[in-house]
Amino acid sequence: MKALIYNGPGQKALEERPTPDIAAPTDAIVKIVKTTICGTDLHILKGDVPTCAPGRILGHEGVGVVEKIGAAVTAFNVGDRVIVSCISSCGKCDYCRRGMYSHCVRGGWILGNKIDGTQAEYVRIPFADTSLYHIPAGAEEDALVMLSDILPTGFECGVLNGKVEPGASVAIVGAGPIGLAALLTAQFYSPAQIIMIDFDDNRLQLSKRFGATDIINSRDGKAVETVMKMTGGRGVDTAIEAVGVPASFVTCEDIVAPGGVIANIGVHGVKTELHLERLWDRNIAITTRLVDTVSTPMLLKTVQSHKIDPMRLITHRFKLDQIIEAYETFGTAAQTKALKVLIEA
Ligand SMILES: [Zn+2]
Ligand SMILES: [Zn+2]
Repeated sequence: MKALIYNGPGQKALEERPTPDIAAPTDAIVKIVKTTICGTDLHILKGDVPTCAPGRILGHEGVGVVEKIGAAVTAFNVGDRVIVSCISSCGKCDYCRRGMYSHCVRGGWILGNKIDGTQAEYVRIPFADTSLYHIPAGAEEDALVMLSDILPTGFECGVLNGKVEPGASVAIVGAGPIGLAALLTAQFYSPAQIIMIDFDDNRLQLSKRFGATDIINSRDGKAVETVMKMTGGRGVDTAIEAVGVPASFVTCEDIVAPGGVIANIGVHGVKTELHLERLWDRNIAITTRLVDTVSTPMLLKTVQSHKIDPMRLITHRFKLDQIIEAYETFGTAAQTKALKVLIEA
């Protein structure tokens, strides 16, 4: 089969690989129908993720059809259409029993990281019963690719951890796919104000259409000042960090109101300054989280009932043969205006 291989920092190639087979009774083999590229894949290619060894098939998002099941799989049958979760969970360890699947001792984020991933014709899914989701009949499958990772990530790490409430003020720093996923799902709670902050005018204009009440281009260095003006000098109740660089986290420190929450989503590769000299008396909370995907079944219902429309995040479409071009398009988003690129296997 064809698969996109990580061959060490800066190197990737579409190569021929053996089709995976059942390795444990709890496994399923899924024939990939649609997959996508994540910002995290770009982090791996930069060499930022040491757990991902050269030779690995990348990808942790996708929808497909169950091709084969191990003897212990009971919730899925051959031919079932499924969403692949970016998090694999055994369902039995202490963390899984607490609903913290991201830290499953046998799973967690292993797909396209410690084991071969979804940017291929087939993928082996461990703990299939607790790591796959059934696709309801008649569902728009392209939209459901967004349920593998970005929607639960934006919602759990940003909106839930950020304690977004009716009437509250929210700022989201970073209007990429994850920031936009947080923007879409924050609206479940009817906050009064959602301010989107980014460098990219195209993404900011999109944010407006996705429900942002205000947009700020931070290129002039005055984002903090502008947020303060927009919030009567108080700052925001929830500041969501959706970039993963020190400057965007520091912006969140500067705009969080007393009693507020800074909810980090971004993947940080370097040290960030924590200004406790300014924050110690402000009754704030700072949260970090790797997505647990506990909200996936709920989010699936909201997509099915058209409360949110993640199809709007898909900007480009490719075939698996063109995946190198797809990486190029996704990696140069400022020029190509790419959000999510959909790849048909
Ligand atoms: Zn991802
Ligand atoms: Zn577990």
